[in-house]
Amino acid sequence: MVKKTKGSRNREKIRSQMARLHERVANRRQDFWHKLSTDLVRRFDTVCLEDLSVANMVRNRALARRIAQSGWAEFRRQLEYKAVWYGKHVRVIGRFEPSSRLCWCGYSNHALTLADRAWTCPQCGRQHDRDVLAAHNIKRFAFAKHKTGRDTPGVPGERPPVDERP
Ligand SMILES: [Zn+2]
Repeated sequence: MVKKTKGSRNREKIRSQMARLHERVANRRQDFWHKLSTDLVRRFDTVCLEDLSVANMVRNRALARRIAQSGWAEFRRQLEYKAVWYGKHVRVIGRFEPSSRLCWCGYSNHALTLADRAWTCPQCGRQHDRDVLAAHNIKRFAFAKHKTGRDTPGVPGERPPVDERP
């Protein structure tokens, strides 16, 4: 292997090629977030988000880095200013309880790992897709918070939506 000396032409060339590649990836990502945020704000009156930056999540360093690199914070920023443009709302909840773990019956699955995409509640037998469950919980908690000002569901015994019923 040829060792590249500092400042050599070859090294410069590779460096500028790498820079161009990074820029292209960043642009594509930015473009994706813009399209998604515009689409969501146009189609819905309220978009509910989970605040991924708070303590719980950041404790997992690898995950925190991935979230930071994915542009999640930028996506949230875009959603918030576009919501103002279109007269829509963005509601953000904290991580009071991991949203993918909390069953409609109140059971919290502490054994759930990131690799588990689906799980069955041992208490009530409902089957959950973790992402669908998380989306329902985020919406439920975001609206409850809006009513009560607290990070807890304000409607005890609220019936789950039809597609989540066993
Ligand atoms: Zn359950």
